[in-house]
Amino acid sequence: MSLRTVFVSLAGFSACLGAVPFSFAQDWRTPAEASDYRTTPDYAETVAYLERVAAAAPGQVKIENFGKTGEGRDLKIVIASKDGVFDPAAIHASGRAILLVQNSIHAGEMDGKDSCLALLRDLIQNKDRAKLLDHVVFVFIPVYNLDGHERRSAYNRINQNGPEEIGWRGNATNINLNRDYMKADAPETRAFLKMFHRWMPDVFVDDHVTDGADFQYDVTFNADATPDVAPETAKWLRESVTPELEQQLDAAGHVAFPNLINLNDDTDPAKGLTDISNPPRFSTGQMILENRPGLLVELHMLKDYKTRVTGNYEILRALLEVMNRDTAKLISLNRQADADAAKLGAHALGNTQFPLTIGFGEGTTPVVFRGYHYKRALSEVSGTMWISYSHEPWNATLPLTTEVKVSLSTTPPAGYIIPPQWTRVIDVLAAHDVAMRRTTVAWTGKVERYRCAGMEWQGPPFEGHHPIFRGEGSGAEPGRFGSCARTTESATFPAGSVVVPLDQRLSKVAIQWLEPEAPDSAMRWGFFDSVFEQREYGEAYVLEKLARENLEKDPGLKAEFERRVQGDARFAASPEARLEFFYDRSPWGQANRVGEYPVGRLLQLDGVPFQ
Ligand SMILES: [Zn+2]
Repeated sequence: MSLRTVFVSLAGFSACLGAVPFSFAQDWRTPAEASDYRTTPDYAETVAYLERVAAAAPGQVKIENFGKTGEGRDLKIVIASKDGVFDPAAIHASGRAILLVQNSIHAGEMDGKDSCLALLRDLIQNKDRAKLLDHVVFVFIPVYNLDGHERRSAYNRINQNGPEEIGWRGNATNINLNRDYMKADAPETRAFLKMFHRWMPDVFVDDHVTDGADFQYDVTFNADATPDVAPETAKWLRESVTPELEQQLDAAGHVAFPNLINLNDDTDPAKGLTDISNPPRFSTGQMILENRPGLLVELHMLKDYKTRVTGNYEILRALLEVMNRDTAKLISLNRQADADAAKLGAHALGNTQFPLTIGFGEGTTPVVFRGYHYKRALSEVSGTMWISYSHEPWNATLPLTTEVKVSLSTTPPAGYIIPPQWTRVIDVLAAHDVAMRRTTVAWTGKVERYRCAGMEWQGPPFEGHHPIFRGEGSGAEPGRFGSCARTTESATFPAGSVVVPLDQRLSKVAIQWLEPEAPDSAMRWGFFDSVFEQREYGEAYVLEKLARENLEKDPGLKAEFERRVQGDARFAASPEARLEFFYDRSPWGQANRVGEYPVGRLLQLDGVPFQ
């Protein structure tokens, strides 16, 4: 029996007696534990508990502010360090690894917060787990989406089984912070990036609660360092971390699955499980750009709150054990991944392919899936199939999609050059701490450039934008990426243009933001929309004259026009389109430069006049 259990029993005993004064000083239960997991504390109560633990072991816990939310609340990290060293550089120099755990990015999903309060107590106050700080410094964000966390209600998540009142998924401007890592619209994201780069953790964990299917597992997790981007780190996660976490969770009485569970068909689990790709808008996608292992943890929404919080606790405890065991290896893997990223531009425009989108092929692996028996029926309410689960175990061997496939890639240039007027595009790179240089004089030289056409923007908003892709859950009018053709040409860039060399640790951020077709590029998110607008136009009576002159002197153009009228009914029916046809192909039309992507890909950095 641990000391803590004694205190808990005593506290319960004295509470029953009523007359005996209850000693708060001895009660180290977290607020969630004290309510028997009926409730989760608000921020003030969360911070009060953290401060109490910090005060109990002077010099071992530090609580730091790292920025402000939109509504002006202080974002905090908690650092547990056994020897009271809280300076990241000194910690790195001492050969210890740093774990950063992020909680409540979706503030209705706060299992991680309550598990971190308990873990901190067990590391620092009762010292049950003190050994886990031997080679690791434990850093956590108790509540990341803090404004959302304080928007408490019993009605914020219909799918979820408690606790009684929980926070909201979006931040104070209703942005989903777990879609904001690349574009960095939110003050929380910007504060996160600065904090992350100050600490440079060795492993990052993002704690969530699922949506989706019902099944026996209470803990699902995904260790995602995509093989094509950091192969050695991915191997360590796959072979040394994942099986260990799974086994330790099972040994602790939880039921773990080492993959997030996504059904091929939401109404029929028998059709198998698929995987999801991990673009940079997600926290774990951001980790790929940071060359760090990222672990996504999802507790199952329908399990009771105690099961979920203790499951979250156990996976963090097990991860700390693995990090203590493999400290030197982990640190060297990260160092290597940083060095590899800084070499991406070294073979500029050679045969090196950098994956922009990693998806999945047809290949599957059979896995034993511990689900529940279910029934399917045609619903007269929705008009489609619906599923109802029993809680009777159904263990079935199902195919899990495991074939990783690069679906889009590029050859990295030596660097990029951005004309200085594209301030919002440059500002996002600055928010990511990407190293940039400014040209001192106007420069004309050979670059690769794109001309893009055929873009369609999504109708309903997605994360406050109308992107050139299909956002989640949106109905009609999905966006569609047309095409970008690349040419090598001589171009002029004004003084003060921004040069982004790829010989840096954060080269992948620049590539993902500046390659137009990348899944979360500045172009896709609408930061270059104005290049697609035709600014000058011809009056109909002016174009009529131009059309007649050109039809007469250019038989090729005439033939092309006639083919278009024959073959394209919409074109044929539009007087404006018919006249535009001649304007677009004239020097006046070309002067609009519609679709000309202003960023240049530098073939080499030599000769570019930057500071
Ligand atoms: Zn979530």
